[in-house]
Amino acid sequence: MSRNEQEMKELLRSLTLAAGAPGAEDEVRTLVRENLEGTGELSYDGLGSILCEKAGAADSPRIMIDGHMDEVGFMVQSISSEGRLNFVPLGGWWAHVLLSQRVDIVTSNAKVPGVIGSTPPHFLSAGKREKLLGLEDMYIDIGATSAEEAAEMGVRIGDTIVPHAEFCELSNPDILSSKAFDNRVGIGLMIETLLEFSSREHPNTIIGVGAAQEEIGCRGAATASEKAAPDVGIVLEGTPADDIPGFTEPQAILGKGPQIRFYDPTAISNRRLADLVAGVAAEAGIEIQLAVRRSGGTDAKSIHMHRSGVPTVVIGVPARYIHSHVSLISWQDYLNTGKLVCELLARLDSAAVESLSDFS
Ligand SMILES: [Zn+2]
Repeated sequence: MSRNEQEMKELLRSLTLAAGAPGAEDEVRTLVRENLEGTGELSYDGLGSILCEKAGAADSPRIMIDGHMDEVGFMVQSISSEGRLNFVPLGGWWAHVLLSQRVDIVTSNAKVPGVIGSTPPHFLSAGKREKLLGLEDMYIDIGATSAEEAAEMGVRIGDTIVPHAEFCELSNPDILSSKAFDNRVGIGLMIETLLEFSSREHPNTIIGVGAAQEEIGCRGAATASEKAAPDVGIVLEGTPADDIPGFTEPQAILGKGPQIRFYDPTAISNRRLADLVAGVAAEAGIEIQLAVRRSGGTDAKSIHMHRSGVPTVVIGVPARYIHSHVSLISWQDYLNTGKLVCELLARLDSAAVESLSDFS
């Protein structure tokens, strides 16, 4: 990719720190718009997904590069008379990662800082210490002492809540830490791909999509597909790394390159397209990882079932500890995934795409 690495990292940093709970992707959408203005034709679907269409040497095939903009978060469900916020999850959370964590409540005028309350061990019986607390029994402390005070801070029922995080490099500078690598890596690479092809030939039309509401059921990818009318779908994801204790045959190791997902319960990647991606990677000298996932799902769920069916593949950047306040990726994996997607796009001409779904 031709863009300066520092600029690329700065874009990824700002994307991860932006707030974007499902249905409230505004800050992410603004960053997508600001970075892609002038690169292609921008449009939006009715759920808030953003599309950027850039024609190359041909109007077709139409290649949809999808990343979802939203991150797992919460929504204020009610405010107690003591000023505590009760909340519902937006997306998949495990209660273990939540207690005593900083969050930001995104109100209509500012972000209100808060902390998810926890009981000190001093006050816990042996039985309670062993038990996993349910999200419905947690609350957020924003320093208010009454519902009125919370209202004065601007907090309302229905406000979204996101983890509060910082972006940093670990001592190994290849490893980056921030929230929401799922899926700001996908958004960052979707933007980088379009920027790359603003000065490079491509035998197709690229539609970059920042999809809304993936974490609650891949909703924006369905509505954005209506607008994008894709012939091929490429889904870019921050995929959960399994190079952690308990996995004997990991399929998403940090630093081992982009992952091609053949299967999860929501979609099967088009076999010919997945093989093409693997072939392109081999020619470009990019190490890849292959995955068959017993659980999980991506926007491919909505895209591959669009109209009469769209050949789709899921390409992931492994991200450790996702769906929490901190996740880790390898910067080299990010760069190599971008390179792979660009090499793929340069080859997806009409003959290549027709062969993907020629079942006659
Ligand atoms: Zn995701």
